[in-house]
Amino acid sequence: MTTTRFAPSPTGYIHVGNLRTALMNWLIARKAGGTFILRIDDTDPERSQERYVDAIKQDLEWLGLTWDRVERQSLRLERYREAAGRLRDMGRFYEAFETPTELDLKRKKQLNMSRPPVYDRAALDLGAAERDRLRAERGPGVWRFKLDHERIEWNDGILGDISIDAASVSDPVLIRADGQVLYTLASVVDDTEMGVTHVVRGSDHVTNTATQIQIIRALGGRPPEFAHHSLLTGPQGEALSKRLGALSLRDLRARGVQPLALLSLMARLGSSDPVELRGDMAELIEGFDLGRFGAAPTRFDADDLLPLTARHLQSLPLAAVRGEVAALGVPGDLAEPFWLMARENITTLGDLAGWWHLCRDGAEPLVDEDDREFVAQALALLPEPPFTPETWARWTAQVKEATGRKGKSLFMPLRKALTGQAHGPEMAALMPLMQVVRARR
Ligand code: GLU
Repeated sequence: MTTTRFAPSPTGYIHVGNLRTALMNWLIARKAGGTFILRIDDTDPERSQERYVDAIKQDLEWLGLTWDRVERQSLRLERYREAAGRLRDMGRFYEAFETPTELDLKRKKQLNMSRPPVYDRAALDLGAAERDRLRAERGPGVWRFKLDHERIEWNDGILGDISIDAASVSDPVLIRADGQVLYTLASVVDDTEMGVTHVVRGSDHVTNTATQIQIIRALGGRPPEFAHHSLLTGPQGEALSKRLGALSLRDLRARGVQPLALLSLMARLGSSDPVELRGDMAELIEGFDLGRFGAAPTRFDADDLLPLTARHLQSLPLAAVRGEVAALGVPGDLAEPFWLMARENITTLGDLAGWWHLCRDGAEPLVDEDDREFVAQALALLPEPPFTPETWARWTAQVKEATGRKGKSLFMPLRKALTGQAHGPEMAALMPLMQVVRARR
């Protein structure tokens, strides 16, 4: 049975980068009729915050990325200790006492000699007495996993065949000096015990994956299928991380971006399939194919979300936005015609207020000098509100008759006089909604 997980650390809001991870894992599970786990990676008590756990759930709910169960690493510390004990027993785990400064110095020396900055395993040469002395002097050390120096290979769902020389990677620290279990071990134990079959994550995790495959095997588990998606860049190819603050889901939501617009973009960006606006989640799932994604960095431009949002809104019936329309104060009997008129002329729901304001209060007329007389003449012919869907055609026919104007020179000055702007909805649909025409006063 296909099981995937999204495993955020609750140290901040979900942003577009990790949304991609969440979405791909969710799509794989849903496409296969499998299980999607929301796993909260909260082994770091200093950085994890409960408010972010709540925020992550709210953001996923907003998007409709439903999970089948929640797991929390902080409730599973015993499992990680047990696994650590097993690694220790099989001689794959060793304590190391170097301070961060010492490690840094070693790295610098290696780099100076043009050697890869890989941990030199000095701790493996310590005798028991030496270890005891260091422990007494410095307190407990960190625990490193002893990699087998062989090539680690897997067929990556996006990157294809990967082969990493374990000797080029430092033995990963799995437990900190203060006893805190680190992500690499916790993740491996969880993925194995929770039966995770597919792991999609960012390509910044490729080296982690290599070490995790060895740890999983050492613990007697079977590695899941791994896939590493490219990282997002800004529109010009610049690193996105600098701007992540502006690209949290919360910010996009506040800008009026609609969930399906965001999901439609994210389910295709970086793949060889074109971005298409999806009508619902079923279409999104149907049109997703992990194998179509490429390794190249993927450009993301938040502005692309606006036309998608506009098109999505155009497709919605009143029922989908009844609450938003009512909140503006639109009377119930006008809600339907107001929405049908306005949805063609908005980018986000935030734009609705302007159209309602026009309908309710009228607009400051916009009249060009050359049109003054013409507009005055036309307005004298305008019947009193309420207007009907026929009002515009009847009125403009009369004005045409009276003034001899036609085409754009007839319609545009009238639109501008009534709405205060040169663009907007069909006047025939707009007029019955207009309760006040200020130009008459
Ligand atoms: N908590 C990890 C992260 O957010 C999870 C990575 C993974 O998917 O294994 O980077």
